[in-house]
Amino acid sequence: MNDDHDLHLAVRLLAGTPTHEGRDPALLGRWARTASEFGRRMTLRHETVRVIERDGGLEAGLFARYRSRPPVVEVYADTVARAERLVAERGWRHWFPEGSVRAAALAHEQAHAWLHHAPVRAEFKRALGHTALRLGRRRLYAYVAGADEIAAHAYAQTACGLGRSPLLLTEALAAAVSFESEN
Ligand SMILES: [Zn+2]
Repeated sequence: MNDDHDLHLAVRLLAGTPTHEGRDPALLGRWARTASEFGRRMTLRHETVRVIERDGGLEAGLFARYRSRPPVVEVYADTVARAERLVAERGWRHWFPEGSVRAAALAHEQAHAWLHHAPVRAEFKRALGHTALRLGRRRLYAYVAGADEIAAHAYAQTACGLGRSPLLLTEALAAAVSFESEN
């Protein structure tokens, strides 16, 4: 039931991503499921990435951000704090234990970094099976916009042992913050 809802959120994320307008919902559903499974099964080779705490995340709509040169993850303390409050307000503590928002944000960014490695990226594209071109027996796979995001959320959920996908939290936070800024 909860897994179904998380999958529904993932499909909605894909549907709202440019290049997917008008695509068959069944195809989006398949991609969302494959991307989630891929993310859940990822085992990252942990590279040491520096973590920097920053503010200004709520304004930018970000929990965290990965920058590759030099490798650093910026965690937005204000967004994390607001999300922790939201978890308490909604009664979602059993899904997102205290401190798990920051841990999930870090895991999410590490997953993005991992998905940038060429062999991982190639495997991911093959799993999604979005064929761009067929040349004789060769197939060239196209990138599925938004799939990384779903895989990163699924990885973070598994790595942090969360009861729901952090996608739920991301969406709820976006709604809460835009409501607050309009009122
Ligand atoms: Zn992301």
